[in-house]
Amino acid sequence: MSYDITISTTIKRLSKQGILEVSIKILVVGCAGRMGRRIISVIENSDGVELGAGLDMPGGPYIGLDAGEVAGVGKKNIPISSNISQVVDDCDVIIDFSVPSVSLENFLTAHEKGKAIIIGTTGMSEEHYKTFDAMAKTSRAVIAPNMSVGVNALFKLVSEASKILGDYDVEIVEMHHNQKVDAPSGTGVRLASIVAHEMNRDLDKVAKYGRNGKEGVRPKNEIGIMTLRGGDVVGEHTVIFAGLGERVELTHRAGSRDNFATGAVLASKWIVKQQNGIYDMQDVLGLR
Ligand code: NAD
Repeated sequence: MSYDITISTTIKRLSKQGILEVSIKILVVGCAGRMGRRIISVIENSDGVELGAGLDMPGGPYIGLDAGEVAGVGKKNIPISSNISQVVDDCDVIIDFSVPSVSLENFLTAHEKGKAIIIGTTGMSEEHYKTFDAMAKTSRAVIAPNMSVGVNALFKLVSEASKILGDYDVEIVEMHHNQKVDAPSGTGVRLASIVAHEMNRDLDKVAKYGRNGKEGVRPKNEIGIMTLRGGDVVGEHTVIFAGLGERVELTHRAGSRDNFATGAVLASKWIVKQQNGIYDMQDVLGLR
């Protein structure tokens, strides 16, 4: 026992001194999905992290296949599992891009096992966020509907623009691929709530999700949130501030999923050095 402690203390000390790089082992949930595959690819090409395990839907076609091969990075000798309790102990951080109910369950497992978790899944409910907040003192998590560094810069820019252009009409337009199940996007909602917060408006009262027919003149405080779906668009968000004789538009366009995957891996490296708490990408990037 004392031998183990000595070894681990030595490893930590050497690691702190930068003499020894300790790799963070990551468990990827939803590893056969669009995001999961890109996350495995980014892990493969990043220093300081390694794939510890891959989890996907019980009974699904990928269970038992090699996680590396499914992700297209070559054999890793890591068969995709469907049971988190079989693989979680051997990992340092869980990255979960799956579906809301599964992410909530995995948050609770991470809490129970003392592991950090990064949740990118969108469509989480108010109840989910209440659960996360209630357990903030004893959990370590980064939960963000958009992990892209560029989108998080957009959040900051929109916050600043909203302060300056407080009496302009604001419309938010988002477009995603035709397989996306939730609408509007989590990022679209987040942008709307940033605008509402900075302009002292109650989003529940002023949000307008599409228009049809004789709606009448646009109410001054309205915040429009328009959802477009089609093709293989990875993700586009534009916030329009429209005033008299001018318009300011702030746009982010994702050309591939790698920006989200890179953000998730960055968050994994960041969270292992943090105290317990529920964080988002603004914390990871120091933008708060
Ligand atoms: P996807 O459908 O391609 O992948 C989801 C994966 O989860 C699938 O492989 C599915 O089999 C798996 N899954 C379902 N039930 C499971 C279970 N019980 N256990 C383990 N795995 C299970 O979807 P996607 O495009 O990869 O997106 C996943 C989520 O991430 C969505 O909510 C999406 O909106 C979100 N997303 C977030 C960001 C971000 O930056 N935060 C970026 C892109 C997508």
